[in-house]
Amino acid sequence: MSDCDHNWRLTETGYVRTWHTEFDEQSQTIIAYYSGSEDFSDEGAGDDHLQCSTCLEVKPLPEGWEIDYR
Ligand SMILES: [Zn+2]
Repeated sequence: MSDCDHNWRLTETGYVRTWHTEFDEQSQTIIAYYSGSEDFSDEGAGDDHLQCSTCLEVKPLPEGWEIDYR
């Protein structure tokens, strides 16, 4: 088992960008703030998932949650 507290980031295979990610437990919404450069690819695989920026562990999006791209 890992001691990592996990710092989940919304990511997508093929994209070089990541989103600043916040979790609103009440409305079950993942708020994804785009804050990177203009340099992003159109080749994302459409498989949005969460990846820990510390230990790189991956987990699927929680079921029933919405993503709010800002
Ligand atoms: Zn982690």
